[in-house]
Amino acid sequence: MRVLRVALDVPLDRLFDYLLPEALEVQAGDRVVVPFGARQRVGIAVTTAGGSELEPSKLKQVARVLADAPRLSHQWLEFMQFVAAYYQRPFGETAVGALPPRLRSLRPLPRRIREAEVPAGSGTRFVSSHTPTEAQARAVEQIGGALGSFRAFLLHGVTGSGKTEVYLRLIARVLEGGAQALVLVPEISLTPQLETRIRDAFPDTHVAVMHSGLEDVARTAAWLAAARGEAGIILGTRLATLAPIPRLALLVVDEEHDTSFKQQEGLRYSGRDAAVARAKLAGCPAVLGSATPSLETWHNCLSGRYGRVDLPERAVPGARLPLVRMIDLRAEPLEQGLTRSAIDGIRERLARGEQSLVFINRRGYAPVLACEACGWAAGCSRCTARLVLHTADRRLRCHHCGAETPVPRFCPTCGNADLRPLGRGTQRVEETLAGLFPSARIVRIDRDSARRRALLSCTLESVRRGEADILVGTQLLAKGHDFPQLTLVCVVNADSALLSTDYRAAERMFATLAQVSGRAGRREEPGEVRVQTRYPGHPLFAALARHDFAGFAASQLAERKAGGFPPFVFEVALRAEANKLDAALAFLRQTKGLVPVPPEVRVYDPVPLVITRRAGLERA
Ligand code: ADP
Ligand code: ZN
Ligand code: ZN
Repeated sequence: MRVLRVALDVPLDRLFDYLLPEALEVQAGDRVVVPFGARQRVGIAVTTAGGSELEPSKLKQVARVLADAPRLSHQWLEFMQFVAAYYQRPFGETAVGALPPRLRSLRPLPRRIREAEVPAGSGTRFVSSHTPTEAQARAVEQIGGALGSFRAFLLHGVTGSGKTEVYLRLIARVLEGGAQALVLVPEISLTPQLETRIRDAFPDTHVAVMHSGLEDVARTAAWLAAARGEAGIILGTRLATLAPIPRLALLVVDEEHDTSFKQQEGLRYSGRDAAVARAKLAGCPAVLGSATPSLETWHNCLSGRYGRVDLPERAVPGARLPLVRMIDLRAEPLEQGLTRSAIDGIRERLARGEQSLVFINRRGYAPVLACEACGWAAGCSRCTARLVLHTADRRLRCHHCGAETPVPRFCPTCGNADLRPLGRGTQRVEETLAGLFPSARIVRIDRDSARRRALLSCTLESVRRGEADILVGTQLLAKGHDFPQLTLVCVVNADSALLSTDYRAAERMFATLAQVSGRAGRREEPGEVRVQTRYPGHPLFAALARHDFAGFAASQLAERKAGGFPPFVFEVALRAEANKLDAALAFLRQTKGLVPVPPEVRVYDPVPLVITRRAGLERA
């Protein structure tokens, strides 16, 4: 009797035994079709055995072995095992779930994917228009010297320091050696420039692009190109971390601090942390690049676990880091959300034909629509949240659950017709700027204006060409863009993070402000940043003005250590959702008693989330 143990995408932490017919040839890593319940499923063969704990009569037979995609390697299975264990998820769900949807389904692959055009002998030609700076050359030497074995590096380069050039030169070495490189980015559609730069630098190399926005066919084709080793470079979002890459020799995580590397549902993993684990298994270096690394990574550098390589200056000759100034909101009155200093700064740029960027971390027109007469404010019926006013299409939208309604004409409680928008978002700032500078070309970039990805990259391209004078936007604008003519960044308000109860809020705010500031002055014209705040003396702003990430990190880490927060402790959050908050809280209280807790572990009492109700469910 031959028994095959199969991993299936079901929420049970075990393998399933099937009889293996004599005629079937199968090895670990093969995809197989097996009966499960009333229907058939695709699973992954893990091991064979001479028998089973189940009665032989109860065992069903493996139906067939699929050979339309390469066998999954031992190393990949091992990596999935690590991911499943580390993130507390059944192995089958993790491994089968990591396959692109087409390879999990029973439908045969369409011919055009199976016979995807394989570029004959993918080339390794490397084209660069830059002579590396001294710092870049040193970085390439240091990290390049570690190729062939595992080591995690932080590439800590200020904005505009040319981290990409370092990645490209390392990739060139890897390709020369006939191996593959994986490059992870936070959100590909927001930064199409990196893809272009990679393709330009390696004109003969097959680049497989992977992200969740791809059509089924394109996604499967990219996965297969990676798995077959045809793609020399795999460029993708966090999900690309889980792709099979048989000759993986370098892993790059660009903007490693970005929170979109974290998957928040299903398998909750960090693409960045999983990438480091993967590099370890593959025996290759992992390069984490950022101007504002996560405190976890920084801490790992300080403790010596990760190596650190610095690019302390901007790469373009003559380009310097921008001058950062605080505008004291207690001394300067606001005119529709903007101070005189901010408005004057924009006017000067307009006169000189340079671009300005106005950063506000909130989309929509106004975050609140309220009745002055009775105090009513439009709220979401499914969430503990206010509805955001969007004037472009006259809708109220919930930014938590997506619910939307038309803007009411009268207050639903008192009938008053005078409903006022309170506070401001990108649309309102755009309107204000249009009033102040009627002849300026103003472009707004946020999640609403960027609904269509293709349109966004067109817009960004036109901004690069200088076809805009003022940009208004959210952090979408902070991410890695290179706008040559941008010399002024105005931050409308950055104070919310200083008052937040989330211990990571300051870290995220510093990163966002440093990134958005980094858009200014990337060429010869010096850049300037003006931050409107009520706390101009706050240490976060002082560090920002000095471009002193190390100083900021040191003070944050000291606070975390004193308060007993990560990275000095590990935190696990147990969350429950229910129709009624009491049920969620009661469930959590019960679970507390289920597992013996060792003395060094501290368990906190359950509390409601700040936004307690979301999409109709109460959360604790
Ligand atoms: P980062 O990702 O570190 O913010 P980029 O990789 O986008 O920086 O590089 C910033 C700018 O510097 C780009 O316009 C790039 O073309 C340019 N650049 C990079 N390396 C060099 C170099 N060695 N010499 C001149 N310009 C360079
Ligand atoms: Zn009212
Ligand atoms: Zn809602």
